[in-house]
This record gives sequence, structure tokens and C-alpha cells, in this order.
Amino acid sequence: MDVTADELAASVAELVRIPSVNPLHAGPVARAADAVGERPLAEHVAGELEQLGASEVVLDDVVDGRPNVYGFFQGRSDRLAVVDVHLDTVTVEHMTDPPFDGRIEDDRVWGRGALDTKATMGVLLALLESWRRTGARPEPTLLVVGSIAEEAGGLLGATQLRPWADARGLEIDQMVVAEPTRLAPIHGHKGGTSLRVTSIGRAAHSALPHLGENAIDAMMPVVAALQAEHRRLQSEPPTTELGTGTLSVTTIRAGSGGNVIPDRCTIGVGRRTVPGEDPHEEFERIAAIARAACPLPTEIESVYPPDADGRYGAAAFYQPADTPLIRLLAGAAGTAPAVAPFGTNALRYGGFARELAVFGPGSIDDAHQATECVAIADLVTTAEVYEAWLDPA
Ligand SMILES: [Zn+2]
Repeated sequence: MDVTADELAASVAELVRIPSVNPLHAGPVARAADAVGERPLAEHVAGELEQLGASEVVLDDVVDGRPNVYGFFQGRSDRLAVVDVHLDTVTVEHMTDPPFDGRIEDDRVWGRGALDTKATMGVLLALLESWRRTGARPEPTLLVVGSIAEEAGGLLGATQLRPWADARGLEIDQMVVAEPTRLAPIHGHKGGTSLRVTSIGRAAHSALPHLGENAIDAMMPVVAALQAEHRRLQSEPPTTELGTGTLSVTTIRAGSGGNVIPDRCTIGVGRRTVPGEDPHEEFERIAAIARAACPLPTEIESVYPPDADGRYGAAAFYQPADTPLIRLLAGAAGTAPAVAPFGTNALRYGGFARELAVFGPGSIDDAHQATECVAIADLVTTAEVYEAWLDPA
């Protein structure tokens, strides 16, 4: 490998110093630092990819001036490998450490995004630079993707990548979605669907409650019915290592005053699905349970817009652990294949690539915290794994 640990650390640190807080996570700290949105990072990565000899670089506006970035590097074969790294980071409002200084200290790179997930983009850029120096090319043609809106907003970047690639007739052999996975190749995680249920009552003075229809009271049997549905799911036999589906009531909002019978109550419901479950059918099932349990009229809506087929939710990502890509990543990293408890851009990539893995340095346990860092030793391993996979020569 022609790249040093110092070069890898410097490359990740440079990306940390270009803030890219997801706009839905923006607060006063991020705004004061002019740190909101992915565009500056996307433009920086596009410039780097061009300098590193990409045959084509595209900035693809997704929404609100927030672009995905794509760069092609010609390989020695026609096979196509894709690495998707999300550009956005979570909030910095609760950080106790400077979020964007990208300092290198204690054998780590520090700052928001160092771990989740600028690490992989930094490693890729440093590797591409070392390949440019030596004139090496990867075995497969490589498409580097920086995608927006992974941390919040409905995986918009990943959603856009797919039709863009389909329109160009790209056939993807192997694809890695970068996330902190402790360098274990992830071959499955749950999918899901999210909805809001509102009970519609009638307001009245609380001294005369019989004149109103209490929307909170009406929601109580709905919550109980959804709890029963969760218990039913827990009693199903697991179909894979991902276990069984789950259902949780995650938010509730109602009431406008202590002396007013509430006319509306809204709950948020999150349903995590496992392989074999159709998230849209689960959406419809939850809606039916809520309507049947609620003594008042209901309004039901999806939290996220429908997909191209008008269906709500994303199916679980799952493929067997015993595929060439998963075996290669595990072997090169010295780890074992695993499944993940969290969702990723892979939710948008079912059937998109012949093989798909979620993979990257560091642990999701350390992501989204008041401090964030990635170990330089893990960056070195990541670079070694990518060399083993992409085989530059
Ligand atoms: Zn991430």
C-alpha cells in the first residue's frame, strides 16, 4: 500500500473541516459556524475527484441546492464497483468538543463526521491520490458517490442515485455503503415504515366535557392495540438473524390548554420490518388497526413520501452472508459478517447491485455523540481492505 497513516488521517481531517450538517439537524451552533448543508463538501469532493483523474465528475442537485457528487475512475475491467458515502452529518448542538477542527490527537481524527462517515471518503481520496502517483488503476471501474440527506429527511441522496444510475444503464456488480460497522461487513438490516395517526374530536370547556369529544381519550385504545400488535410480532418465529419486526409508538402530541377538551391527538408510529415483510402492507395493517380501535374519526398519513410505485416504506436489506464481496471484506478486515440494528442508504438499494455490503471503520455506538473521533489504525485497515477489494495495479 502506497498511502501512509498520516496521509489517511490528514485526508479525513480535511473533510471534517468542511462542515456538512444535515439541514434538519441545524441549530444555533451550526448556523453560527455556517455549517449547514452538504453543498460545500460536495463541491470540494467533486474538485478532488477531478484532480485525482476521474473520467467524469457530476454534481447532481437533489433538493434545495444540495447535490450528490459522483466520480468515475476507469478500471482495468468492465465490472462496476460503487462506494456510497453519505455527505451529511448529524447535529453539533450538543457537542462538548470543537465540531469542525479536524484535529489529530491521541492517534485519532476528531470532529463531527470523522466517524460517521467522512472516514471512508477520506480514505478513498487518499487511496486515489496514491494510485494517481503510481499510475495504478483499480480492477473494477469505480464509481465514488457522495450522497446527501442520509441522517434525516428520507435518504434523498440514495433515492436520487438509483434512477440516475438506471437512466445511464449502469449495471453494478458490487456496492459498499459506508457506515461505522467496526469493519464488519453488514449483510442485512431491518427496513420499515413510519406513520402518524390523528384522532379527530371536538373541543369544549373542560368543565363541560360531555359537550366535546376527547381526542386523547380516543387515542388510548389505539396505543393499546398497537402494543398488542407489537407483542404479536414478537411471538412470530424469526426468519433471519434480524429477528422479528417491531412496532413502537414514538411521539404523541395533543392538547392546547388545561381547561380545554382536546380536539386532536397525533401519535407517531415506527414499524421496523424484517425480510419477508412488505412495509407497505404493514403500513396498511397499522392503519386498519388504528381505525378499528379509535372511537373517533382518524387521519392517517405516512411520515415520508411514497416511492415511485406509490408505496410507503422501505423493505429490509438482506442477502446471505456467504457471498464473494462479504467474504472478501471480512477476510481482509479480519472480522465476521454481521447484521445491523440500524438502517442505512442500503434501504434504497434492494436489487440495485448484484452484491451489497455496509462497511466502515468505527462503531455506530460512538456516532452522534458529544464528541466524535475515528482511530487512525482503523483508517489504515479500511485502506487495506479497499486495496484488497479494488486491487489497484
Ligand atoms: Zn452515517
